[in-house]
Amino acid sequence: VTTRAEDMAGFLNGSKVLSPNFTKRYKLGRLLGEGRFGFVMTATRLTDGRKVAVKFIDVDKIPRNTWLPDRGSATGGYVPPEIAILQQLDHPNIIQYIDHVVEPTKYALLIMELHGSDWQHASSSSTMSVEDDDEETCTSFDLFECIDAHHHLPEPVARKIFAQIVLAVQHLQVQGIVHRDIKDENIVVDSNYNIKMIDFGSAANIPKTQAQYFTRFCGTIPYASPEIVRKESYRGPEVEVWALGVLLYTMIFGNNPFRNGKERAEGIVVMPRGFHLDSDRDYSGGKAVLTDPQMMHPFNPVFCTSGCRNLIRGMLEFDPKSRSTIDEVLSHPWLKREVEIYQKAYVSAQSAA
Ligand code: ADP
Ligand code: MG
Ligand code: MG
Repeated sequence: VTTRAEDMAGFLNGSKVLSPNFTKRYKLGRLLGEGRFGFVMTATRLTDGRKVAVKFIDVDKIPRNTWLPDRGSATGGYVPPEIAILQQLDHPNIIQYIDHVVEPTKYALLIMELHGSDWQHASSSSTMSVEDDDEETCTSFDLFECIDAHHHLPEPVARKIFAQIVLAVQHLQVQGIVHRDIKDENIVVDSNYNIKMIDFGSAANIPKTQAQYFTRFCGTIPYASPEIVRKESYRGPEVEVWALGVLLYTMIFGNNPFRNGKERAEGIVVMPRGFHLDSDRDYSGGKAVLTDPQMMHPFNPVFCTSGCRNLIRGMLEFDPKSRSTIDEVLSHPWLKREVEIYQKAYVSAQSAA
């Protein structure tokens, strides 16, 4: 079965649709993934052989009045907001901008760091069971596919991934930016469970006054907060934390906490029954759980500590005013130590550079 994007990829490789400005510097590889606004392919940078990811952004879908000044060019010009926002970000858990080419027709090409493409090697050494008959999932691995392959994630793995996501979101908020489409598909994961946030197609600056609050929803409905579902205006950070709550719930329990619009509007969270663990030590040090097929069987009860449940509840708080803030999430007892490990590593990497 070939999708529209695969047809397009094959077509692009041999055609003159792309300008020499791109084709003289990059050679396209294969399709990595596709979403609502475009598709993403691997490519090789011809100067040094570096493997990169190229997102094809359909410019007809991005109203011109939203384009922002190009920070990467001395000659000026405007680029889709997704490119402009990524240009100003630099964080270990946010995909790194490399380059872009605005083609005269149809596409803006966003060239970025390729992340999570090492699963092909990892799956042969059986750290994890990625379906053998599905090579597509091996080349790029987003968190959606990761949860899908495991049914649900053991708590220590979920914590490792979640700490990095929250650090990325905190970094954005310090920069005055909200992502607005936080979900499993927009997180890419490598074989060591290092993650990077991608897809800044809905990102925006946090409004400074109530008059500027957002009124338009541009995320993904299963991750939308009750105030969004009720069509109220919103500031951004509170909605972001809600989406993080949905995300952690989904990682731990393997499904979305809300089954329909009514449940989302009411925001009542039901935690599945399962073993309540009092201590993380019950996880035999937090290692090797992934290799135990018995433990990860979809019909087995879910293991979840009371600390984890408490954190999820704080993020999925109905009233945005009493919802946990990003700093409260970071300093929650369930997450704090993991966060500190990453913060230390990032500081020492920075001083080494
Ligand atoms: P859309 O805005 O259409 O949703 P995304 O930017 O989310 O597009 O990209 C679509 C998919 O492509 C992602 O879900 C992911 O699987 C894959 N992908 C995107 N960027 C990268 C990247 N830099 N490295 C690896 N995979 C990526
Ligand atoms: Mg996406
Ligand atoms: Mg998008």
